Amino acid sequence: MAETKSTCCYCGVGCGVVIEHEAGRITGVRGDPDHPANFGRLCTKGSTLHLSAAPDTLIARALYPALRTDRNAGRERVSWDTALDTAAERFAAIIAEHGPDAVAVYGAGQLLTEDYYVFNKLVKGLIGTNNLDTNSRLCMSSAVAGYKLSLGADAPPCSYEDIAHSHALFITGSNTAFAHPIAFRRIEDARKARPGMKLVVVDPRRTDTAEAADLHLPLLPGTDIALYNAMLHVMLWEGWVNRDYIEAHTEGFDAVKKAVREYTPAMAATLCGLEKKAIEQAAEIFATAPATMSMYCQGLNQYSFGTHNNSALINLHLATGQIGRPGAGPFSLTGQPNAMGGREVGGLANLLSAHRDMANPEHRAEVAALWGVDDVPAQPGKSAVEMFNGLRSGEIKAIWIACTNPAQSMPDQALIHEALAKAEFVVVQEAFGHTETCAYADLLLPATTWGEKDGTVTNSERAISRVRAAVSAPGEARHDWAIVVDFARRLGIHMGKADLAARMFPYTTPESIWNEHRESTRSRDLDITGLSYSLLENAGPQQWPFPEGADAGKVRLYEDGVFPTPSGKARFVLTEHRITAESPSARYPLHLNTGRLRDQWHGMSRTGLVARLYSHEPEPMLHMHKDDMERRGLASGDLVQVKSKRGDVVLKVLESATLRPGQTFVPMHWGGNTMGGQGVNVLLPSAFDPYSKQPELKHAAVQVEKY
Ligand code: SF4
Repeated sequence: MAETKSTCCYCGVGCGVVIEHEAGRITGVRGDPDHPANFGRLCTKGSTLHLSAAPDTLIARALYPALRTDRNAGRERVSWDTALDTAAERFAAIIAEHGPDAVAVYGAGQLLTEDYYVFNKLVKGLIGTNNLDTNSRLCMSSAVAGYKLSLGADAPPCSYEDIAHSHALFITGSNTAFAHPIAFRRIEDARKARPGMKLVVVDPRRTDTAEAADLHLPLLPGTDIALYNAMLHVMLWEGWVNRDYIEAHTEGFDAVKKAVREYTPAMAATLCGLEKKAIEQAAEIFATAPATMSMYCQGLNQYSFGTHNNSALINLHLATGQIGRPGAGPFSLTGQPNAMGGREVGGLANLLSAHRDMANPEHRAEVAALWGVDDVPAQPGKSAVEMFNGLRSGEIKAIWIACTNPAQSMPDQALIHEALAKAEFVVVQEAFGHTETCAYADLLLPATTWGEKDGTVTNSERAISRVRAAVSAPGEARHDWAIVVDFARRLGIHMGKADLAARMFPYTTPESIWNEHRESTRSRDLDITGLSYSLLENAGPQQWPFPEGADAGKVRLYEDGVFPTPSGKARFVLTEHRITAESPSARYPLHLNTGRLRDQWHGMSRTGLVARLYSHEPEPMLHMHKDDMERRGLASGDLVQVKSKRGDVVLKVLESATLRPGQTFVPMHWGGNTMGGQGVNVLLPSAFDPYSKQPELKHAAVQVEKY
């Protein structure tokens, strides 16, 4: 038996794994004891990774390129040459007739950094459009926008090791126990080691994470800003703010101080549905603990005011000086294994390589020079929701979807299905051939996946880890980066830019892509010019920045109190309470909240293949308070129809003591294929945050009736 070290492909904890394999098959997996993210531990998902790669799962894989020339006919197996030449010809023809903005690429936070890099270069460099977005838009873009707005750069200042240094943890909008289980084990360890450590959890549901808290604030969905503003009000009233820190390291405090005068604890208690005393207690714990760290995820990000949710929370850190010290700071948890890597290469429609600013002509010129092109476009491309709207309206004619399943994961599903059906040409580059999106593929390109591919990922704490191949690809599957490089060269020929494309895409290994990517970061805030594959091989995962000549990365940022803004000061952001995109009404009287289960991950294309992972919750169920069930004559196990303005689903109802009356919850994982019709996201609205463009996947107003 042989062993290969790699990284778990699920959440942003980024645990190290040791893959056991024999005769070209993955036979087992265990935690890597040397990996700093997990020190040998794995959760239920990570510890069953080998089962998701078992021989019987091959049935779910895309194994050969397949093409259909007639929408009413099935796809037929073709050679890679035919597949990529056809794609290049179709894309080039559309670009020639309608311009570069008529095509788009939609990727994923599961792609490796090297995959991301070549996709970004293809779209923004060779094609000349910024229409490159990814499913990270659905989970992380409000955290990106919040960090940039408040602190000046998209850089999480904390590390997982800060959990052990923290005296108070403020977890908000995250069921860490389910979504980031190994980080939660570290929280349990820290509380055992320091019994005085406080855990405050803000969540509409009494989740497993909330159950473990010293103080749980079950706020009404979407009322975070009112809560944080009221906490700042209390801190000011009680004299708990750190005036020296505010004076020396921040700007904009006076306007925020004035605005939060209105947010009395009594007023916020009404808006948030909380006890006034609980708000005061939360403020005291946050402000007076020697070190407070907040940890947050989709419960902040997935709102149509997600950016301000983030900034209102960061205001608390700035007001109390709870940042830039061991155990203190705002720590955004990434849902995906490499959402961070995508952000680093500029893999979103409004980002440029290495945290450069698309609106800055000098930054665009730097990227153009690095890539050897005349320029890169200045106008932001279409973000996820806009991209599918563009497809539906005909503005975008062709889309290339890689490593993600928007026909399940996007909100307002009916519109997404309509958009994909209307597209002139849909390419789907996927490891799994059974997803809802594959059904729309005119061209299906089989890609390698975890255990078969090589490269790097960056976890929530800026730590870059190697991902390694243990076995070879099944069928004719190819690596994502290699598919892009091959396509780019062929597209160059069809666009009359053959020499340019050959010069731009010379890569033969992921390491050659990595070396160009790290050079693009030189002198940037995330400078990783000191990080080579051989260093990662010998020294293990490293945090950025790690410039040439450094002997270690940075565990935490802003320890000197200097921020990457023009003035060097962090910014207080004026944030006001807003209402959710839709409010409960007589017709749709219930709040619907969505979230993760312990044993499933995203759209289940991988975890759904492992029988053991259904033992926790075997099917999607609507969680509901007993009063709401009694009112409708429902008992646990009854079938109910859940309806929003956009569509409806039928599923079983489950009485749940984790919710207050008026609230319901449904897990996010099941799509149309697994629910025999529509997936749960048919219920959710596509309204999005004006800054981050992140849609409000956390909330809808619904009605529930016995089916
Ligand atoms: Fe994988 Fe996340 Fe579980 Fe670690 S905590 S094993 S990264 S799913």
